[in-house]
Amino acid sequence: MSEKMLKFVKIGQQNPPKREVGRRKEDFNEIYKDFINEKAKEQSSRCSQCGVPFCQIHCPLSNNIPDWLKLTAEGRLKDAYELAQSTNNMPEVCGRICPQDRLCEGNCVIEQSGHGTVTIGSVEKYITDNAWENGWVNPIKVLNEKSLSVGIIGSGPAGLAAAEQLRKSGYQITIYDRYDRAGGLLIYGIPNFKLEKFVVTRRIDLLKKSGINFKNNFEVGKDATLEELRKKHDAILIATGVYKAREIELPGNDLDNIFPAMEFLTASNKKGLGDKVELFDNGTLNAEGKNVIVIGGGDTAMDCVRTSIRQNAKSVKCIYRRDKENMPGSSREVSNAEEEGVEFVWLSSPKEFVGKNKVESLIVNKIKLGKPDESGRRKPEVQKNNQFEVKADMVIKALGFDPEDLPNLFGSKNLSITKWGTLKTNFDTMETNLPGVFAAGDIIRGASLVVWAIKDGRDAAESIKKHLERQEFKSEKVA
Ligand SMILES: Cc1cc2nc3c(=O)[nH]c(=O)nc-3n(C[C@H](O)[C@H](O)[C@H](O)COP(=O)(O)OP(=O)(O)OC[C@H]3O[C@@H](n4cnc5c(N)ncnc54)[C@H](O)[C@@H]3O)c2cc1C
Ligand code: SF4
Repeated sequence: MSEKMLKFVKIGQQNPPKREVGRRKEDFNEIYKDFINEKAKEQSSRCSQCGVPFCQIHCPLSNNIPDWLKLTAEGRLKDAYELAQSTNNMPEVCGRICPQDRLCEGNCVIEQSGHGTVTIGSVEKYITDNAWENGWVNPIKVLNEKSLSVGIIGSGPAGLAAAEQLRKSGYQITIYDRYDRAGGLLIYGIPNFKLEKFVVTRRIDLLKKSGINFKNNFEVGKDATLEELRKKHDAILIATGVYKAREIELPGNDLDNIFPAMEFLTASNKKGLGDKVELFDNGTLNAEGKNVIVIGGGDTAMDCVRTSIRQNAKSVKCIYRRDKENMPGSSREVSNAEEEGVEFVWLSSPKEFVGKNKVESLIVNKIKLGKPDESGRRKPEVQKNNQFEVKADMVIKALGFDPEDLPNLFGSKNLSITKWGTLKTNFDTMETNLPGVFAAGDIIRGASLVVWAIKDGRDAAESIKKHLERQEFKSEKVA
């Protein structure tokens, strides 16, 4: 065992410092400062190098965390990066936005022994950002170009990870996306203060330089049917994510200034990218000077409240029907929101929107938590005759997402879906019921996480390779 390791008793846990609250509310830049080299080394040296690394087991990508922590502690940063990137197509993205408290760090053995987890995510971010700065992240050099092609629908993390893996094997890749920019929710969902856009665009530029073809502003179902793409390519991957906003049917739902979360976040992200956004520029989708209410308790709701704060809202309240302990959002993001001045109204559920043309207030029911439901979480129950009214100039609904009706949209009525509307795939191969059509990411899992989308993209790429190899084998036999 390297003498550089096992320092968790002597060295305390330290995350990179956060920017001062007053300053960070003034802009959309990331809130965590970078580790300096010495800190990254020091924090990595806290790892106990356990025989059974629970961090690795609980990382969806099975990242070889103990080994890259050891390499970092020894100052072998290039080797650490090579190892980190061998299992993860975007380590610097995951290092920034994985809910580590629920994944790797939450299962770190030294966290369980009360010493505070190794700051795995921050080290992962550090070694990869450092690799970019040093020019160690380079386009793929294809040694053996192949003529077979794969069409990927969706350029979110699932599509991008699959594209990279397949391109490494020499296949011709085209990624179709209905947005004007590639990146999916990494660009238009997740705000800059969690993930600055240059981190995503430099990855996309790298994939372009690797020979991957991007066709933006191309909506499958409108610009081509799935069948047309099947004829054009030797395999297809559907990685379209989930975008149908969940609704609550309440009186007053049709009043102005009530928006779905993605409309609000996309407008804000587009402004950050320098686009002209009419509905933002005329004030409709801008929270400035408004009393904002966000309904929901997941990561999307946290992004909406914190975006509103940065847009200079007059007040920002988050209405959630359970309590803090039972919130689905990452606890790290909840405490960041609290620090930034968001008011959480726990155990409350919207009853009615009030107003003439525009929303003016929200009537809210008080909730108590009952017995656990089938998911094991305590069920919210409305308290009779216990309600209150909250002033609102703008309401953002962040209630989650469902899949769109892909069989209809794609003009492929025979494409099988589950009862939740996600695509039905073979668990082993990720192939749908249509031969040669595979699926990955949120469109098979439902709304999930970036790290799971990357994992799915990689797994689907492996299956697609096998599928294409069978085709190559057949055509060799015919020849
Ligand atoms: C606001 C918000 C914040 C989040 N924060 C986090 C976080 O902090 N950490 C985390 O791990 N996860 C987070 N997530 C979840 C994460 O972003 C998703 O799980 C992940 O992006 C899913 O990847 P994907 O590739 O499956 O789909 P997406 O990223 O949704 O990409 C799908 C792509 O498919 C394209 N597309 C859809 N239909 C068509 C069509 N018909 N034709 C052509 N293109 C099409 C879309 O334009 C999009 O670019 C967040 C999600 C949201 C909404
Ligand atoms: S990918 Fe996510 S879960 Fe895995 S080591 Fe990195 S931060 Fe942890």
